[in-house]
Amino acid sequence: AKKLGKDQFAVFEPAMRESFQKHLQMEADLRRAVLRHEFELRFQPIVRLRTEEISGLEALVRWQHPDRGMIPPMEFIPLAEETGLIVPIGEWVLREACRQAARWNSRRAGQAPLTVSVNLSAVQLERADLPRLVGSALADSGLPAECLIIELTESLLVDHRPETLRRLEEIKALGVRLAIDDFGTGYSSLAYLRNFPVDIIKIDKSFVDDIGDLPAAAALTLGIIQLGQALQLSTVAEGIEDAGQLSELTDGNCELGQGYYFAEPLTSVAMDNLLFADPSP
Ligand code: C2E
Ligand code: CA
Ligand code: CA
Ligand code: CA
Repeated sequence: AKKLGKDQFAVFEPAMRESFQKHLQMEADLRRAVLRHEFELRFQPIVRLRTEEISGLEALVRWQHPDRGMIPPMEFIPLAEETGLIVPIGEWVLREACRQAARWNSRRAGQAPLTVSVNLSAVQLERADLPRLVGSALADSGLPAECLIIELTESLLVDHRPETLRRLEEIKALGVRLAIDDFGTGYSSLAYLRNFPVDIIKIDKSFVDDIGDLPAAAALTLGIIQLGQALQLSTVAEGIEDAGQLSELTDGNCELGQGYYFAEPLTSVAMDNLLFADPSP
């Protein structure tokens, strides 16, 4: 790639220059954040819709910036992907999620173990050592592979290379399950359901949002649930915010769900309380 010379920089409009400088600053901040471990995880319960018992947790990353406060993932994941910093960040997320889930499960002895779902970026899947990393995160934490779910987005599967499929199969061979995130928002959903070793479909929040108001959204949601059943996949509805949405989904036989109606993403301390608080009056 050609380097930007001084004179090329001069053609930038002031607004462009400002946004370029912001971008550089953000990149420097993000590099420092990796070195100083400025990331935290939140955990959102995934609930069995019929009984409302917790079946698992989704790990969601946050950046605790020293000056700017808590930065949500949508504001730094794209930059992290562009710069490759998603690789060390993603490794930390995976290891920390497995470690916490193993800790919670050891305290829940006698109860069904919780699953933990970890979001993976396409950039992480380009790395040949990903299956080894997943195996090492499981071994180091002691979390059984059956308890780990890797979430992939549709876009990741659309422009795939043969290595991607091989890597996913290696990860599946460990006993880890794969989920398709934001299902229904891409454009070749059905093709990759046939081609990829997927276990779980996560129905995008946009369908759930409109389920009570738009007959088309309700019909599509029910269609996705039935598709999942026909293929023997679990279905998880995302972004459930009210009782009306919950009852539509339960009536449609959706197995699992998550959303503010049940709980927001929680700190590990808040999750400790939710899972182990004494049920005192
Ligand atoms: P996602 O994987 O689709 O995660 C669900 C998002 O919806 C989360 O936002 C969650 O907080 C939010 N959410 C859950 N329930 C509700 C609800 O009832 N209403 C509304 N309005 N929102 C709800 P969050 O935590 O800001 O994460 C945004 C996205 O960032 C995630 O979308 C995921 O694509 C990405 N992301 C988060 N953590 C990671 C990570 O560790 N690695 C990678 N590669 N991406 C991540
Ligand atoms: Ca997700
Ligand atoms: Ca999603
Ligand atoms: Ca909406």
